[in-house]
Amino acid sequence: MSLANKLAEERRARLAAERLLEQKQAELQAANRKLGKHARQLSDQIVETRAEVETVRDENRRVKSDLTVANQKVQIAERRLWHSIQTIQDGFAFFDADSRMIAANHAWLSVFEGLESVRPGVSYIEILQFLTEEGIVNIGDEAPAAWRERMLDRWQSPNPDPEVIRLWNGTYIKLIDQRGHDGDVVNLALNITDTIRHEKELNEARRRAEAASRAKSSFLANMSHEIRTPMNGVVGMAELLMDTALTDEQRLYADTIRNSGEALLVIINDVLDYSKIEAEKLVLNNEPFDLERAVHELVMLLQPNARDKGLALLVDYDMFLPTQFIGDPGRIRQILTNLMGNAVKFTETGHVLVRVVGVPTGQTTGAGDTARLHITVHDTGIGIAPEKRAHVFGEFNQVEDAKNRKFEGTGLGLSISRKLVDMMGGDIWIESDEGCGSTFGIALDLPVAEPLDPEQLRLPEELARALIVEPHAEHSAILEKQLMKLGLEVTTCTSGAEALTRLAEADLVLADHHMPGMDGMELAEAMHEAGHDLPFILLSPGSGGAEQDPARRFVTAVVQKPASRSGLCAALRSVGPRAPAAPPAPARRMRVLAAEDNRTNRLVFSKMLKALEIELEFAEDGMQAVALFQSFAPDIVFMDISMPGMDGKEAATQIREIEAQSGDGTHVPIVAMTAHAMDGDEAEILAAGLDRYLTKPLRKATIIAQITAARPEGTVDPVGDQASVGRTKTGLSGSERSAS
Ligand code: ADP
Repeated sequence: MSLANKLAEERRARLAAERLLEQKQAELQAANRKLGKHARQLSDQIVETRAEVETVRDENRRVKSDLTVANQKVQIAERRLWHSIQTIQDGFAFFDADSRMIAANHAWLSVFEGLESVRPGVSYIEILQFLTEEGIVNIGDEAPAAWRERMLDRWQSPNPDPEVIRLWNGTYIKLIDQRGHDGDVVNLALNITDTIRHEKELNEARRRAEAASRAKSSFLANMSHEIRTPMNGVVGMAELLMDTALTDEQRLYADTIRNSGEALLVIINDVLDYSKIEAEKLVLNNEPFDLERAVHELVMLLQPNARDKGLALLVDYDMFLPTQFIGDPGRIRQILTNLMGNAVKFTETGHVLVRVVGVPTGQTTGAGDTARLHITVHDTGIGIAPEKRAHVFGEFNQVEDAKNRKFEGTGLGLSISRKLVDMMGGDIWIESDEGCGSTFGIALDLPVAEPLDPEQLRLPEELARALIVEPHAEHSAILEKQLMKLGLEVTTCTSGAEALTRLAEADLVLADHHMPGMDGMELAEAMHEAGHDLPFILLSPGSGGAEQDPARRFVTAVVQKPASRSGLCAALRSVGPRAPAAPPAPARRMRVLAAEDNRTNRLVFSKMLKALEIELEFAEDGMQAVALFQSFAPDIVFMDISMPGMDGKEAATQIREIEAQSGDGTHVPIVAMTAHAMDGDEAEILAAGLDRYLTKPLRKATIIAQITAARPEGTVDPVGDQASVGRTKTGLSGSERSAS
């Protein structure tokens, strides 16, 4: 090879080596850079980690100090808790799941009087042993082993019942044990010695109070019996005396004797009822009864008084409300008697209106659907001042002012009524306009015993237009409402003369008996003479002798006034367009049977009824009563309860059996007469098959009301021509406990 070639080759080799060197150098630099970057990152990380470690260390320090504080707090709380537990008077101990004592306070330990073995670690069974062996507990007749076993069983049950133990010194301790989830037991030992002593004292006091209250009740019962019996003689004889020929002065004396006797009885009855309610001795006897009839019977009883004062007594019984309800008829009558009696007593002119409305409550009891009844007694009397209204329901509260000082009464009537209504779960209220009148209302929920029979309200098709002849606006308005509800078109007029001009507008005439000018009977006769043979219904208060009037033959039907729905509907149904104005079939007299062993009482009874158009027979004991019931076939029986041989209850039971055997469904009313006034008797008497309950002394008006109410169709009106059927005082509250 030439030199030049060698040089060239050498140059090329050197150049290549230089390029390689350059490249390696570049690679070395790159590696160095990377290394530097890593080193930086590493050092950053180290700084960070160091900071974190510092933070954690700080936290650790803080937690440690917190823990110390918390520990201190726990210790303080524990100390305080234990201090409290030590301080309380009752025993307190903890046991672990193995029934070993963990701790107990002083009170708990003090029972063991320093017995050293009773300390933390002792077992429950050992404690029971100490209690019995050391005689700490008084276990009475129980064997110590049996007692311990019983106590241990109790202790081991999941939820031990509290147990009262008695210590040797008479202390009573109530043990209450509470088992926790982990098996620990907390045991409380309460010293209840004072409570037990107090309880004993209370029991003793109650026993004494009850004995006193029983003594009081039986004293009242005896007193009522003892006073009633002679009172029967006083009031009855005074009434008889007044039926004899007397000078005016003598009559005044006799009247005063009777009135005072009756007033005294009202007071006795009120006080008796009141104390019975207070002693919670009064029970309600619920049974089916006819509310409408009860209202009408009370109206009849008050009628003589109202008539004397010239007051109209009105009844507005909702045409579509059932009449048969379940309640305590005697007590409901007592409430109504009180409200209605007050209304008559405190009213000088105008009227007293009893309104009964009701709606279904939607509730159904075992006895039937329930109706909410509203019974209001409205009067146009003296009224009660607003500030006095709240007081009238209180005991012995009377509105005392110059205006009503002349009215007598005990001031107990409304308070008894309120208590009775409360017992029935109802409400009683008053609204009054001083000087214009008062309205007393009661609301009662009563089960319906028998729903209304729509047949009863159906009238003959031919009847469409009725003419009412009635001067009294209130009477007229109520009758008009009733007839319109029955679907009649009604025209009203106020006198007989006016009626005669309007007969063309009517298919039937309903006229009041006693009207000024032309009275009802005269109107009937005048219509007949003028050739109008329209059906004619006479509304008569029942004492005007309508049945005996020669013009009776022009009258289609006589309805007792105020008209009951059943009376009115029956009369309306009995008339058709062609109803002949013929004389009615000859009526017989009502047959009344009275069983009474006492001769004087028989005399009083017969004299009281001597003016009535009835046939009266007496039985002298129960046997005779049963025999006469069959041979005489009475329409009503009055039955004395205590009679020699067969008593009244037994006789009534036999009569009911005779009726049941005859199978024709007849049920002759039997009215009990008795001097007993306590409730037990009443329930027994009614259970024996008697329908009502009269307490002696019997009053003429009450007896007559019972007879009239029992009058069957086709019999002569027993009251007939007798304008006066006897006066009663308004306060009838206790004299009649009827369960019609
Ligand atoms: P008594 O009628 O025996 O006095 P009550 O408790 O029945 O007792 O009545 C309390 C009082 O309420 C009556 O004395 C009378 O002042 C007043 N009072 C009751 N009803 C009426 C009424 N209808 N009109 C005016 N005042 C009445």
